[in-house]
Amino acid sequence: MLRNDQLEQWDRENFFHPSTHLAQFARGEGAERVVRTGSGVYIEDRDGNKLLDGFAGLYCVNVGYGRPEIAEAIAEQARELAYYHAYVGHGTEASITLAKMILDRAPKNMSKVYFGLGGSDANETNIKLVWYYNNIRGLPQKKKIISRWRGYHGSGLMTGSLTGLELFHKKFDLPLAQVIHTEAPYYYRRPDPAMTEEAFSAWCAAELEQLIEREGADTIAAFIGEPVLGTGGIVPPPKGYWDAIQKVLKKYDILLIADEVVTGFGRLGTMFGSDHYGIEADIITIAKGLTSAYAPLSGSIVSDKVWKVLEQGTDENGAIGHGWTYSAHPIGAAAGVANLKLIDELGLVKNAGETGAYLNAAMRDALGDHANVGEIRGEGMLCAIEFVSDRDSRAGFEQPGKVGPALATALLQQDNVIARAMPQGDILGFAPPLCLSRDEADTIVAATVKAVKTVLG
Ligand code: PMP
Repeated sequence: MLRNDQLEQWDRENFFHPSTHLAQFARGEGAERVVRTGSGVYIEDRDGNKLLDGFAGLYCVNVGYGRPEIAEAIAEQARELAYYHAYVGHGTEASITLAKMILDRAPKNMSKVYFGLGGSDANETNIKLVWYYNNIRGLPQKKKIISRWRGYHGSGLMTGSLTGLELFHKKFDLPLAQVIHTEAPYYYRRPDPAMTEEAFSAWCAAELEQLIEREGADTIAAFIGEPVLGTGGIVPPPKGYWDAIQKVLKKYDILLIADEVVTGFGRLGTMFGSDHYGIEADIITIAKGLTSAYAPLSGSIVSDKVWKVLEQGTDENGAIGHGWTYSAHPIGAAAGVANLKLIDELGLVKNAGETGAYLNAAMRDALGDHANVGEIRGEGMLCAIEFVSDRDSRAGFEQPGKVGPALATALLQQDNVIARAMPQGDILGFAPPLCLSRDEADTIVAATVKAVKTVLG
């Protein structure tokens, strides 16, 4: 085994890490950790530190670490057939089985699954499918995509544009021209504190309608949204939001893409976030929980309505000109099949609802009255705490973006608990594996209380 100092040197010299402060890292500053193994909700690094992963990697290791059932399925697939492509009608038992398992679990109006590798490429596929769809319908002008400020849909050119967070645009010349943003359903930051949740939802829908009218409905193809805003701060929608938005989209013939990369496969205590909020999407994006990140795999689930049009297009044009070498990769598919079986066998969707509710309630009990806690919010196995300098005015800190990271560092250093400082605002996020127990939830809450005391008093 390589020595730790040797590994660290190679790491700093050679490895271009994503979402990392490049100059600091090269100088030897900033977080550096070589992760070695994992089991249940814990990971262990090369120095022997055992950490409770309160964010399930990047909210993706839904079944928890170290599941032999998935490891064995991957090994067996690799021995039998590590790779064959899925072009011109090819498949494997694993990819065909997984498509069926996904559709058995998906909302009833869904028809087919297109497989990709990660959430970003799945959303790129979705936008191409929407454009293809409108070209086939003879509506070549209907191409713009609406997403929300604070939405996260990936880091590609189009998907980075859809993402409504400044960090992902700045110095990359994004967003692209075909993307427009509308208001986030961020009730805590509503324009008028007197608004009820329903009134704020109606306001969001009215803002959307005005945007559509301004741009022209005949230029707008689709609206994309996460059932619960994830990276933008873990923000569940206010009451009535999805009903109000869907009414507007239907009125103007605009497709709805539900980005369920985080919420798919149980995180909200329902199989999909769409089930939870009564969302009838035309396309659903899936990734993360599809394999619990044991292998990279994503998917675009396409509805009957969209599929019927796409089929007509290939009559005119020959094969659809869209494919990845690794679409429906057999190893990813084998991991997906084993993972979905495990989610059922272990009752993880139910546990996400129940233990997630316990975690949220315990967090509220422990910290709800703290002078710097503006809001504690969550749904299922998602929980976030938004910190403010003043509860009444909801004002942020003089230097925004410092308290969140300081809290995450304190949780880690004091108690070996991983939380995530969300990228915009002083928001601490939790998205543990769906197998979290009540004891483990208690550990997270106790560590958070301690960290808040250390950083804010
Ligand atoms: N959509 C959502 C809602 C996400 O949270 C993410 C990743 N955090 C993505 C898309 C992009 O997925 P990936 O990083 O796998 O490309």
